Amino acid sequence: MPGMEAKDIKIHGSNLDKAVRDKLPPSHIADILGRLKSDVVATEQVLRETKIGMIVNKLRGHSDKAVAELAKDIVNKWRKDVSNKPKSSSSGDSKGGVAMKKESSTNGASGRDTPNKDTPTPTARKASTSAVDPMKRNKTTDGVNCDIHDEDIRNKSLGMMYDGLCIGSDATPDTIFKLAKELEQQLYKNHSNKTDGPYRQKVRSIFFNLKDVKNPGLRKNVITGRIKPVRLAMMTSEEMASAERKREDEKIEEENMKEAMVAKAPTSVTDQLRCGKCGKRHVSYGQAQTRSADEPMTTFCECLNCGHRWKFS
Ligand SMILES: [Zn+2]
Repeated sequence: MPGMEAKDIKIHGSNLDKAVRDKLPPSHIADILGRLKSDVVATEQVLRETKIGMIVNKLRGHSDKAVAELAKDIVNKWRKDVSNKPKSSSSGDSKGGVAMKKESSTNGASGRDTPNKDTPTPTARKASTSAVDPMKRNKTTDGVNCDIHDEDIRNKSLGMMYDGLCIGSDATPDTIFKLAKELEQQLYKNHSNKTDGPYRQKVRSIFFNLKDVKNPGLRKNVITGRIKPVRLAMMTSEEMASAERKREDEKIEEENMKEAMVAKAPTSVTDQLRCGKCGKRHVSYGQAQTRSADEPMTTFCECLNCGHRWKFS
C-alpha cells in the first residue's frame, strides 16, 4: 500500500541499516529497498523524521551495483516526490486568460470628447483583450488610454505603472487603471508635484520591481489590495523585493531538504583522526555524499573533546 507510515518507515530504515552493517546478502538489502521504493511517498517531513533519506542515500555508494542503482532510483524518486508536493492550486489564473473589460463607456460618460482629468474612462478593445496571453498584457493590448494629464511625463509614468501592474493579472483594465492612476498621483504628490529626477527614478524603480518576473507577488499584492498604492509609493527597492525573498526562502527550504538526505550520516569514533584545535585524538566521523554520486564522499568530523567540527573530501 502506498503511503507507508512513519513508524514503519523507521523500522524498515533500521532493518536496512542493520542489514548493511551485518553485511547481509545484497538481495536482502535490495528487498528492503524495493519495499521502500514502492510504499514510501516522500515528504520533507517524512525524510527528516525517519532519517530514511540519509540511510538510502548512503547506499548509492554500495559495492553491489544493483543495490547502488536501486538506492539512486529511490533518492531520485523521493526528490521528485518532495518537489511535486501539491501547491495551492493556481490553475484558475492561467485558464481563463484576461477577464473581459466591462463596458464602461456605455454607462453614461457623456463628456467623452473632453475627458474629465480626474475620472478618466479607459477604453478597451474587447476582442483583442480576451485573446492576449496575460503575461503579455500591457496598456496597448488592453486598449487603455493613459493620456490624462497635461504633463507628458506623468502620462508616460502612468502607462509604466499600468504596464507593470497588469502583467499576468486577470483583473479588468478598469481595476488596474484605477490603481495605476492612484499610484502615479501618489508619487507625484510625494515629490512635491514635480516630475524631475527623483520622481522619474522612483517611477522607474517601481516599474522594474512590478514587472520583475521573479517577483510576481508584488504586483499581485497591489492588485488584490494587500499593498495600497500609497504604501507602494513609499516602499524601498528592498521592501519591494521582499516577495522575491520569500521565494528565495522557499529555495533554501528545498536545499535543507536535500541536506536532510545526507548531512548526518551515522558516525563512528576513531583515534586515527586528530583534532586541529585541541590536538586530541577522540574524533567522531561520518561520511556523506553531499553532491552527486560521481563526486567523492565528504567526511564530517567532530572532536568529542572540544566540539570542533570540520570536514574533508
Ligand atoms: Zn578538539
